[in-house]
Amino acid sequence: MVDLQSQYAKIKQDIDAGIQQVLDSAAFIKGPKVAEFQEHLEAYTGAKHVIPVGNGTDALQIALMALGLKAGDEVITPTFTFIATAEVVALLGLTPVVVDVDWETMNMDIEAVRRAITPRTKAIVPVHLFGQCADMEPLMALAKEHHLFVVEDACQAIGAKYSFSNGETKQAGTIGDIGCTSFFPSKNLGCYGDGGAIFTNNDELAATMRAVANHGMVVRYHHDRIGVNSRLDSIQAAVLDAKLPHLDEYIAARQQAAAYYDKAFAGNNKLLIPGRQAHSTHVFHQYTLRVVGSDRDRLREGLAEKGIPAMIYYPIPLHQQKAYLDPRYKDGDFPVAERLAKCVLSLPMHTELDEEQLEYIVNNVLDLVK
Ligand SMILES: *Cc1c(COP(=O)(O)O)cnc(C)c1O
Repeated sequence: MVDLQSQYAKIKQDIDAGIQQVLDSAAFIKGPKVAEFQEHLEAYTGAKHVIPVGNGTDALQIALMALGLKAGDEVITPTFTFIATAEVVALLGLTPVVVDVDWETMNMDIEAVRRAITPRTKAIVPVHLFGQCADMEPLMALAKEHHLFVVEDACQAIGAKYSFSNGETKQAGTIGDIGCTSFFPSKNLGCYGDGGAIFTNNDELAATMRAVANHGMVVRYHHDRIGVNSRLDSIQAAVLDAKLPHLDEYIAARQQAAAYYDKAFAGNNKLLIPGRQAHSTHVFHQYTLRVVGSDRDRLREGLAEKGIPAMIYYPIPLHQQKAYLDPRYKDGDFPVAERLAKCVLSLPMHTELDEEQLEYIVNNVLDLVK
């Protein structure tokens, strides 16, 4: 699905030099590399505060811990997403309230969010699924109307840009009160282990989240709140700092591969290409087809036989996951998510796909659905 070896080979010198600097300094935790990367990422995203943390799941958890929510408060998330989005909600004793998604963009349905709001709703966690922003302008208006926090799960969408009707453009993760991202190796900006970051423009929330990520501590050994231990280590920061200058090229390479796929599959009545969100760019963390006129699982097996990996993101919506079964929800309540779970197929998508590989993938897909 990804080719991290070829990507590394192209920037090996910078990566190796950055890691060597950390080794020489022995500042493995909270070293200068972490601060440098934080500054560079603030400049890139336009976020006033970037808070580097241990991974994307921690980023979401720390964000929710900083909002002063109480057990039983409701947090709205899409039911078609990676589990981490709802997992942290449940872990904190909050109540995940799930909503359906849009068939074309596969992102949260904003009208469904409106219908799901109750007096106990405190926050909305939109997921910018597969690399394009959820429809943030109406979502932010809805949140404002009901005094709700918005925590963006931008783990798949770093660098995606959303345009507002007033002409303003903002990056994924910098639109809501808080944004969260992941540097898992296969993410669009990936490190060589685990990593994540939180974005916010709010000084108070930034200070609270820094404390939460550091055992609830501001003054050393004075713990004013219950926190966690979640840090980006210096070696990962060195890797990320070497890769960040290439992020725009990486996005462009993904978009080019997506354009190739689009062209090959457009008009095919058995495969639907990913629908585009009207006001967002797409950074293609995944290129996800909907297989509507053919057997998805047979297609996947056929591709595997040709040495082509294809993945199902995600096979089971949240409300049908064993650990999250809830008497409020039954099968059929979220028909779009349930249908997507049965028909989505993500093709290889990364920065190193060349024309020959794309042609091989496309020809085999078309052959198998004939
Ligand atoms: C990757 C991902 C996460 C979690 O990130 P980790 O760094 O693996 O903890 C959360 N949400 C979404 C949508 C993701 O894709």
